[in-house]
Amino acid sequence: MNEHWPAGKGIPVAVVACPDYMPKNVACALRRAFDLAGGLPALVPPGSRVLVKPNLLQAVPPERAVCTHPAVTGEVVRSLASQGCAVTVADSPGGGTRYTERNMERLYRVCGYAYLPEETGCILNHDCSYREMTFPGGSVCTRFPLIYPYFQADSIVSVSKAKTHVLTLMTGATKNLFGLLPGLEKPLFHSRFPDPAIFSDMLLDLLLAVQPALHIVDAIVAMEGDGPMSGSPRPLGAIVASPSALAADIVLCRLMGIDPALVPYLARASARGLIALDGSGIDIRGDPVSTLSREEFRMPGTYAAGKSGFSIPLAFRIVHRLGKVCQLRPVVDASRCSGCGKCTVACPSHAANLVHGRARIDRRQCIRCYCCHEMCEQGAIRLERGAVGALIHALAGEKRRGE
Ligand code: SF4
Ligand code: SF4
Repeated sequence: MNEHWPAGKGIPVAVVACPDYMPKNVACALRRAFDLAGGLPALVPPGSRVLVKPNLLQAVPPERAVCTHPAVTGEVVRSLASQGCAVTVADSPGGGTRYTERNMERLYRVCGYAYLPEETGCILNHDCSYREMTFPGGSVCTRFPLIYPYFQADSIVSVSKAKTHVLTLMTGATKNLFGLLPGLEKPLFHSRFPDPAIFSDMLLDLLLAVQPALHIVDAIVAMEGDGPMSGSPRPLGAIVASPSALAADIVLCRLMGIDPALVPYLARASARGLIALDGSGIDIRGDPVSTLSREEFRMPGTYAAGKSGFSIPLAFRIVHRLGKVCQLRPVVDASRCSGCGKCTVACPSHAANLVHGRARIDRRQCIRCYCCHEMCEQGAIRLERGAVGALIHALAGEKRRGE
């Protein structure tokens, strides 16, 4: 049980500098990271069937830093294959993209994954069926629909992307597992668990249910700003590896200059006794985090920053409790909207609809899950505050961090 590390033993988290996606640099960094994290054969049984789970949120090219870079996934596959593992690479894209063979084919091609079978011997998954798994120990969720390759594997190796995130502040190892849910189940889960704390508990239940053997985070070029889709690429120059998703994410927070207590699922993990946020149970190995971290990392617009790190002034908190007035809301920029309809498919509350070939959002029905913003490839959905919310924010002295 990787999230229940034996008492008294620090959870190993490898942090290895890697300047770019040159294959030889990635191969060298990953070899070091595996050794520092405990050794690949000890973490993933040689000769086993392995599901490698990258972050393939959308069909966009690697340089956008939305998806796990194919150089990293490819090298992970090669390392596993070299110890006799049979590897399948599988993910389901974000909720606005239907999980179909045709869409997966396009995704592999655009994301730079199409060459992997020939060069590494892996299988790219095209089976878009799914099954339900039960997890009686779940605190808020005891049944998960999961993509079929999960059920055919002996071990899961997660290869995630380091990004800021409008809903969870950051995404790395833990949130990557949400992609094991097939396409349109994701917005349904957002609808079932709209509260950030309960959504976080669901994520933790999922982590405990599927228990990946190893987590690798592609933080060579991360994303800052309005991730996971509409942020900007930001070089971080690091690869992180650990048998624990939560430990990896806490170290990732340090690299990105984020207080782990502000990440809803890490805060819930701490409350549930799964990890200490101060890093006291973590054994960081490899290159010094201090030389790689980026304090000025730009946060998503959904989070407030005061002068001494993240803080929400009292006046704002009082008003915030009175309603949604201060929350960011999705606004469609009609001049950029292509009318593709992805946001309408992703919207769990049917607030987003196409009207005369352009997206329109009914604010009364919107639950602020931001799935539409996540799915829009055209950058046509901005997150903004209304006039009253913006005024209260100005009075409360809130600032976006790193701008
Ligand atoms: S806002 Fe327009 S371009 Fe963006 S996902 Fe919706 S319909 Fe497509
Ligand atoms: S319109 Fe509102 S409820 Fe619908 S996807 Fe966007 S943020 Fe979520």
